[in-house]
Amino acid sequence: MTNSRTYSHTYRGRFAPSPTGPLHFGSLVTALASYLEAKSQNGQWLIRIEDLDPLREPAEATGQILNSLDAHGLFPSEPVHFQSRRHEAYHTAIEHLLSQGHAYRCICSRKQLQANHGRHPQHCRDDDSARDQPFAIRFALNEDQCLWHDQLLGPQHQVVRAEIDDPVILRKEGFFAYQLAVVVDDIAQGITHVVRGSDLLDMTAQQLQLYRAFEAKPPNWFHIPVIVNDKGQKLSKQNHAAALDNRTPVENLIAALNALNQQPPRSLLTGPVEDLLQWACAHWNRGAVHLTFE
Ligand code: GLU
Repeated sequence: MTNSRTYSHTYRGRFAPSPTGPLHFGSLVTALASYLEAKSQNGQWLIRIEDLDPLREPAEATGQILNSLDAHGLFPSEPVHFQSRRHEAYHTAIEHLLSQGHAYRCICSRKQLQANHGRHPQHCRDDDSARDQPFAIRFALNEDQCLWHDQLLGPQHQVVRAEIDDPVILRKEGFFAYQLAVVVDDIAQGITHVVRGSDLLDMTAQQLQLYRAFEAKPPNWFHIPVIVNDKGQKLSKQNHAAALDNRTPVENLIAALNALNQQPPRSLLTGPVEDLLQWACAHWNRGAVHLTFE
């Protein structure tokens, strides 16, 4: 049911920002890395706005992000996709998981779960019939020692704990959660390669189990280092990361290429964005990226 259409491209990548604020330098680095990976392999590159949580998303953020990407010459191969328009698909996916025993209704509060070391005091996994109270829906994980291969970081080993780590896929407030929507949409859009920040590395083993539950082929994952501020915190809206200045796209892209350890020549500083991106695609050296981890 969540099967993607058949796409002829062997490489379909994407940049999938949550619109919690304007594009900042850290998100530009991720966008650029995913763009260069896709373009250097003659692939398609898509933009997906992950607007799942209106309470955390200022109304203007989506427009700001799309304007910034435009200003930096990062144009998608297809029209932008919005998760806020995909509620029906997420509903269908949840119904499917519930009917297959891969998901359950949970009435526990976070506090109760914490006090109970992650175990559900209401035994929601075995008896999810208490529907007269507000409930979340969780994905039922299998206990697993998950081994998978990251295209940049190499072999990964993640322990998945059933029940304790079961992710919420529909929140009590009625919002769909990232873990569900990202997998449903990557499948539906035929995404073959995901380049994203290493802050999402720990999500991957759970996502692999969702792929299995949907009987879909997972993408290749490539996690890049996250950009941190001088206190070592990830650049983010919460840490007051500055919005990119759209009037200086070439300077911003050169700084992003340097963060990815690509060493663009100084002569490109005075040229147009298109020349710089062309150079970056032709000289993209993914092997250099990991050096910035050291
Ligand atoms: N929307 C997520 C974020 O902005 C990224 C999702 C992903 O790349 O898997 O952090």
